Parts: sequence; C-alpha cells; structure tokens
Amino acid sequence: MNFSTSIHNRKKLNSYCLMFLLLLVCLISLFSNRGMSNELPTIRYAFIPSLDELDQQTIQEIRQTDTLNTVQELSDSVFNLAEPVNIVFGTEDGPLYDPESDQIEIPYHFWREMIDNFSADFHDNTEQAKLSQEDSQYVYQAAEGALLHTLLHEVGHAYIALNQVPIVGKEEDAADSFANVLMLNYLEDGDSQAIHAATLFAIEDKQIDSFDDLDFIDEHSLDIQRYYYSLCLIYGSDPEQYQTLFQDLESEVKTEREEICIEEFDRVTASWTSYFKNG
Ligand SMILES: [Zn+2]
Repeated sequence: MNFSTSIHNRKKLNSYCLMFLLLLVCLISLFSNRGMSNELPTIRYAFIPSLDELDQQTIQEIRQTDTLNTVQELSDSVFNLAEPVNIVFGTEDGPLYDPESDQIEIPYHFWREMIDNFSADFHDNTEQAKLSQEDSQYVYQAAEGALLHTLLHEVGHAYIALNQVPIVGKEEDAADSFANVLMLNYLEDGDSQAIHAATLFAIEDKQIDSFDDLDFIDEHSLDIQRYYYSLCLIYGSDPEQYQTLFQDLESEVKTEREEICIEEFDRVTASWTSYFKNG
C-alpha cells in the first residue's frame, strides 16, 4: 500500500464514520421524537364556521369558558390518549365520539339547550319572571360544568377505544365515571362542576312524562340514575362536605348508601388512575 492509497482509504473510512454518525443522529432524533410525540397535546378543537347569529354567539360563549383549556390540560397532565382526538363544535349530530374518525362531535344547539334548560329550571325554582345578572351568571356556570362533563364523557369513550381499556359493564357508565373521576380528583372546583352536570340529568329527567321500552333498552342509564350515580361519587369524594347530600333518604338507607358511595368513589378512582399511570 503506497502513501496515496493510505490517504484514500483513510478518507473513505472518515466518510463511513460520518455516514454512521449521521445515521446514529437520525435514529436518536427519530426515537426521541417518538418519545416526545406521546407527550404532545392530543386533543384539538375546531369550530365549524356558521352564518347564523345564534351559532356565532354560541361559539363566542363556549370560547369564553375554561372548558377547552381544562380538557386539554387534563389530557396533558393526567391521562394520555394513544392517538390524537379532534373535538368539533357545530356538527349536525352529537354529542358523540365517532371511533371511525377519532372525532368528538358537539352541535351548537346542545349548548343553547343547556342554557335554556338551566334557565327554565331556575325560573321554576325561584318563580322569578326574569333572571338577574347574577342568576344569568349562575346559568352560564352551570352550563359550563355540564359541558365539561359532556366533553370528558366523550373523551372517556375515545380513551377506552384508543387505549384499549377493557370495560366490563356498560361503557356509558364507564364514560360517566371517567368524567367524574377527573373532575373530582384533579380540578379545584370540580365538585361544583360535577354538581351542575348532575343537575342537568335531574332537569332532563323531570321533562320525561313516562318511560317506554326504548328508554330501558338504551345504552345509557336513565337520566335519574346518572344523576344519583354522580351524586354518589360527589359524596364519596368528600363525605364531610356533602354530609347533607342524601338527607332526604331514610336514615338507615342513607347510612348504607353513604358507605357504598365512599367505596364506589375509591374503587372507580383507583381503576381509572391505574390506567392513567400506564399512559
Ligand atoms: Zn356516551
């Protein structure tokens, strides 16, 4: 081997080293990106534009709530969806989670109906002809709590599907407990938000004159059952603060229910958090 061949070989060796280093850098960045991608926000929002004035007002009102940030923060810090999910406001149908498109759909009229329901209930309870500014603030807070519960319920369906969570029993009940566990354990005012959401179930129940077979075959539990189940978890999350929650029940039944609700809250919290820890 002469001198020039040795230089040539060394250059060749250097270029191989460079290629190897580049490949290594590529692989490292690929894997670190994969690692990071799991931590990126996986919930995105979109509002379908509308020329309707009421829809435009709805978009503004929903944007003014903390709901969107709260759901996104919970998904960043508490649970980790295996795939990104889009929440689209202004759809025809819903509220629903469509597993085909990984999309949560919320129609604009859903928000307006909640405002109407809470307003009507407020009128019924107070017999006031007109809501004061303070009352109207309460109605919007109540609708915000119910919207948060609805979004988390639908995200619960997405989490069950995408993270392949095995569910024994009704998935609708599991989605409700997903929402309540997140609200009651991880949000400062989650209990009052959960109470608003439960109240909406009670209001909707009052609107039902009679049940037929379709109500019983429905995949959801009855509104009144969803109402009491939410109350049960709210009580279980803080028995001292909510000691009067079941005061209308007979004392023996009340004590029995209260004990079960504490166990139920601990059980569903432990079940969901065991999944949250595993990503
Ligand atoms: Zn559902």
